[in-house]
Amino acid sequence: MELNEGFADLGLSEPLLAAVSGAGYEAPTPIQHKAIPLVLRGVDLLGCAQTGTGKTASYALPIIDILSSGTGKPRMPRCLILAPTRELAQQIADNFVTYGANHSLRQALLIGGEGFTLQEAALGKDPDILIATPGRLIDMFERGRIMLGGVKVLVIDEADRMLDMGFIPDVERIVQTLPRIRQTLMFSATLGPEIKRLGKEFLINPKEVSVAPPATVAGTVRHAMILVEPEEKRVALRVLLRDEAVQSALIFCNRKKDVDIVCASLQRHGFDARALHGDMVQHRRTETLAAFKEGEVNLLVCSDVAGRGLDIEAVSHVINFDVPYNPEDYVHRIGRTGRAGREGRAITLATHEEAEAVGAISALVNTAIPLTTPEGEPAELDATPREKARPRRGRRRRDEPPTAEKRPARRRTRSPEAAESKPKREQARGANATESKPRREGSRSTDAAEGRGGRKPAKQGAPAREDEPVTGLGDHVPAFLSDPFPVLPPGAGR
Ligand code: AMP
Repeated sequence: MELNEGFADLGLSEPLLAAVSGAGYEAPTPIQHKAIPLVLRGVDLLGCAQTGTGKTASYALPIIDILSSGTGKPRMPRCLILAPTRELAQQIADNFVTYGANHSLRQALLIGGEGFTLQEAALGKDPDILIATPGRLIDMFERGRIMLGGVKVLVIDEADRMLDMGFIPDVERIVQTLPRIRQTLMFSATLGPEIKRLGKEFLINPKEVSVAPPATVAGTVRHAMILVEPEEKRVALRVLLRDEAVQSALIFCNRKKDVDIVCASLQRHGFDARALHGDMVQHRRTETLAAFKEGEVNLLVCSDVAGRGLDIEAVSHVINFDVPYNPEDYVHRIGRTGRAGREGRAITLATHEEAEAVGAISALVNTAIPLTTPEGEPAELDATPREKARPRRGRRRRDEPPTAEKRPARRRTRSPEAAESKPKREQARGANATESKPRREGSRSTDAAEGRGGRKPAKQGAPAREDEPVTGLGDHVPAFLSDPFPVLPPGAGR
């Protein structure tokens, strides 16, 4: 298949082509080129593509054609799409509305943080397509509101993020309730060993397709790093916002509490800023996002969980108040700017303490990102792993004795969600993305399921902060605690 072929060459139906051109798409993106014909052929697919590459249409378009050639049964959706965050699930649902404009397929969106009533009503309309975050789907399933035995196509979107957020046990549990004969598509921004293992678990003879992450394609983004001392970050941010022609900016912090602190500080100094993170109730997240998209506020201070997957056009700046722990998150963050051929600016405030993470980012994006002092002088990071070199601008002179100051414990490199999250997985789920969990008494919690499954999610289970005390059993729940309590008939066992 030639990459210069248009949508019409990919095998999609006429009504779908009309919807695609109605959406204003002129040509398929690389992932669409590669994935659409394969999905139409009915094969399983492991797609390595990030949000921003047009990945949603790469599965949504062929799925619409596949589903429109058959009929469903009441209460039995034929397609299930699992997404790790509410925002991504909402965006997928919006895309299905756009692409399905000329079809009469019904869809339902099941996400945590919202009431059950409307979602149950949507389920009552016999949707063909279910778009869900894992926890809410399990809740609905346990309430007997949905049957998954009719699912013909399963999509697991942002599998790497599912892994980071500890949702894989939930996904495994959901997959166990699906028919074995089905088509499964799994998308992930990275294809590390754990994702490949999950691919083997969920997919049968998958075809693998991969596209370059946006960081390597978005030549429209100009990167810069400013070397500051930790206590200077807020001042540096304000100077930056005043000096740069910032029309709209996403300002990323690594921790939720810093999102609030930075946002409050900006507001105190007269900036038009709002905060967005996973601890906020869903309706406030939605309102804040809408206000930013509408241009009512021009600065959004956010965490990675909230910021990831946001499809916001025309963000002039992405500012990393903190260097992300994972280099992939840098790619995700800056992918919010320089979209659709526009110029974008990605500026990172870095301290010497963050030198290691900066190195990992430079290696991943394969670009030397210019580093300067706040005054614009060239600077260098001092990654000395020994005793703490006093945070400074520029490199310590060789003849200068190291300071006696003790270097604070080095941060472990881990996902921002792990850093954001509370120690208990349930709390992390509730806060971050998907769930408010009114479980029925006696229903098996997903944590219990995890205990039985015996597999701990990768990158999960680390306490939110190294200094946080471990309460009770901490993250470890022995499997026997998850076993159902046997109800003996009267007289038995006496
Ligand atoms: P996604 O990676 O699915 O989040 O898509 C990112 C953005 O690209 C969304 O705003 C889509 O509407 C848009 N998009 C998807 N496919 C195309 C295309 N072929 N041409 C132009 N824009 C597209």
